[in-house]
Amino acid sequence: MSEMSSSESALLIKGGRVYDHEGNADHPPVADILIVGNKIAAVRGGLAETIESGQAVPELGTTRVTETIDATEKLVIPGFVNAHYHSHDVLLKGCFETIPLELWVLSALPPSYPKRSTAEIRARTLLGSLECLRSGITTVQDLATIYPFDEEHLDAMLKAYEDIGIRCVFALQIADVAGVKSIPFWDEVVPEEQRGGLSGAVEPYRNIDLGDLVRDLLKSRRKVHPRITWALGPSSPERCSDGLLSSLAEISADEKLPVYTHIYESKAMTLIARQTHARDDGSLINYLDRVGLLTPKLSLAHSVWMSPREIDQLKAAGTNVVLNPVGNLKTRSGIAPIRTYMNRGVNVGLGCDNCSCSDAQNMFQSMKMFASLAAVCTPEPGPPTARDAIWSASVGGARTAGLEDQIGALRPGMLADLSIIDLTDPSFVPLNSAARQLVFTESGRSVETVIVDGRVVVRDRKITTLDERALREEVADLMKALRKDIEAVIARNQRMMPYLMEAHRRTWATDIGLNRYVGGGTD
Ligand SMILES: [Zn+2]
Repeated sequence: MSEMSSSESALLIKGGRVYDHEGNADHPPVADILIVGNKIAAVRGGLAETIESGQAVPELGTTRVTETIDATEKLVIPGFVNAHYHSHDVLLKGCFETIPLELWVLSALPPSYPKRSTAEIRARTLLGSLECLRSGITTVQDLATIYPFDEEHLDAMLKAYEDIGIRCVFALQIADVAGVKSIPFWDEVVPEEQRGGLSGAVEPYRNIDLGDLVRDLLKSRRKVHPRITWALGPSSPERCSDGLLSSLAEISADEKLPVYTHIYESKAMTLIARQTHARDDGSLINYLDRVGLLTPKLSLAHSVWMSPREIDQLKAAGTNVVLNPVGNLKTRSGIAPIRTYMNRGVNVGLGCDNCSCSDAQNMFQSMKMFASLAAVCTPEPGPPTARDAIWSASVGGARTAGLEDQIGALRPGMLADLSIIDLTDPSFVPLNSAARQLVFTESGRSVETVIVDGRVVVRDRKITTLDERALREEVADLMKALRKDIEAVIARNQRMMPYLMEAHRRTWATDIGLNRYVGGGTD
């Protein structure tokens, strides 16, 4: 029988076209969706009529429908899963041109900056979530750097996620190898007195055992809110010791937790593997396998410079990749072998990555790039199709969160995470194919209503859970101090520029047996 209690309320979405991954993706049929509590209870035609005429609906039981949303001339789609995201540089969108990844890391990421205030941490977490929600992203997988580590900052982030109402898979980004050791040639070409300024996405925490820290945080905060689940976040394999990765593999297995990491995003990240991981034949996939992390719980963000042999290993292990085509283009990192991942049947999720390297939390941009960039890898038409892109942006991402039974599709029993799209927007007139117009035409403009966990969090394109104007004012105030810090970081990097570019060019001059640039990497 039903698990519903009389205290639950029900929400009815009436008369919309309902997108089904397995159904008609061009002209999804009209159906009604009944949401009871935080779950989808029923999806079928005629449901609203039955309820309105007072007849019994088994899925509703004695619960009352407290709100009806008219979805006539609208399309209901599963909420997107932003499978690779970082909240730590939300306030830096628009700060940088298309600079190389390693220079961007030094310009944008927390280790380059003085410690932030708790108010700034909260504001940026809210603002990033707001941008995600407005474009139909209902789950963010935040691989968050808190540097230097401060529990108050962590709690401020978790509270912000709780308050704004987005679903979050939270992973604390950690590493125990210093940034200066993880980029080819940095410690050769940068003068010793300037090397202190060379950092990665996170730096090792002083006097803290990372395995113990992660176990403690899980114990104290894993159940802080049912909409917030946890994952483990080793920054990238070359920046983590065998000992750290082995202990995370153990925690992942014991606690059944996903693991998020970056891999082979740039050529430099691949070259360092060749230089420092001779024991693993220069392959970070071999390394991950050796420490016990190459499992279906692992998601590898970027995976641009992956070799065909390594892609076969991923398929065999059931390991996921999360592609971030927009950020990869902006950081001059090259193009992932999208078609090969599709052809080999590797699970692919999509992310929007950092706010200062993509610079948009917009899954429509990611889907369009994902589907389109495959076309510069091979002239033969083929996958990914628009339908594949929507699948990766929802189901593919849900798999990387370990939530594939709960989110990513509009089916009875699933959590009610969805968006309602206005089909009277010019993007959908005429309606030739819902899937193709979502991927190739839509910009995010038509996202009208967003529901997470059964709760309306965006209504008529406005967030319902916070005062947007007050947040804007607070951000404007916080930017006074942050802007000065940004300027100082950029000036410092300018002083190091000749050395950084020398390291970058040496990397480019080294053959690693792979090329992920369309033009061959030269100008
Ligand atoms: Zn990232």
